Amino acid sequence: MEAMLYQKLDKGAVRCNLCAWHCVIQPGKRGVCRVRENRGGRLETLVYGKAASYAVDPIEKKPLYHFHPGSTAFSIATVGCNFRCNFCDNWVISQEEAITGEELPPELVVSEALSLRCSSISYTYTEPTIFFEYAFDTSRAAHRSGLFNTFVTNGYMTPEAIEAIHPYLDAATVDFKGSGDPAFYREYCGVPSPDPVFESLLAMKSKGMHIEITDLIVPWQGEIRGSFTKLVRWVVDNLGDETPFHILRFFPSYRYEGPGSTAEGLLEELWKMAKVEGLKYVYLGNVPGHRYENTYCPSCGKLVIGRIGFQVTSLRLKGSSCAHCGSRINVRV
Ligand code: SF4
Repeated sequence: MEAMLYQKLDKGAVRCNLCAWHCVIQPGKRGVCRVRENRGGRLETLVYGKAASYAVDPIEKKPLYHFHPGSTAFSIATVGCNFRCNFCDNWVISQEEAITGEELPPELVVSEALSLRCSSISYTYTEPTIFFEYAFDTSRAAHRSGLFNTFVTNGYMTPEAIEAIHPYLDAATVDFKGSGDPAFYREYCGVPSPDPVFESLLAMKSKGMHIEITDLIVPWQGEIRGSFTKLVRWVVDNLGDETPFHILRFFPSYRYEGPGSTAEGLLEELWKMAKVEGLKYVYLGNVPGHRYENTYCPSCGKLVIGRIGFQVTSLRLKGSSCAHCGSRINVRV
């Protein structure tokens, strides 16, 4: 299928404008993501309708804690990714060289989601930008059927991609690794700079999309506290102090060789630092049963959404307000 968002260059080359790599691809070659190929001067997506993974997940697994809490998301992914994180959790599909997957066209994704009583479709597990056409058509069909759409993304997109998908995209979890430290992105994710991620966030914000941020804290990321504080301040200043912010515990995976998982004490210290910087909704992820998985009302301090892992255990909301004191909570229900 012909790709969206590309331009033809001289001598049969094309430039892909879907993600911040802006790959220039010669005939017969593929882009960095390995799933977009120049066939005779025409850019083709190789993964349209080819689901390498699909499942029904709690929306909290994305993680989206402030977007229809307690609902379920039909979650899909294809092979391929535009990052090369050597600690990837989903490396089996993200770093797969072959084009594999089960035929699952957009209409079938939507009908499956409806029959399984999901409220949304989540484009996740690998970077959804690289299966854009599949996500785009599925999102449009999903909206027609009353389903929401959410991206779990590394944010390494172009403004054109956001402009195209935003009418159908209701929410995004934007994942930072190593607190957005440029050296970390270069060395461990294989991308030259995290700057496009920040630009994507500004574009999403301007479109009124619901945004949640994750930051994967890896034990070897260097000067953790400085990078972390810088990221939190950027979020407060540019996205607002009501932006849900998830501090994720790292567990060893893929090619990672080094110290084990992130110490819980460090995560708790960062949680406190984020609160001091003014963020109202800060969470710890991958620490099931921790009290920092819960949402507390910023006004009265009482529990409004209780969670254990990905399960919502209590909901004390009246619409989008705290059921105890009536203050507005930044939550979409
Ligand atoms: S989506 Fe793939 S082909 Fe397009 S710019 Fe990004 S990495 Fe390159």
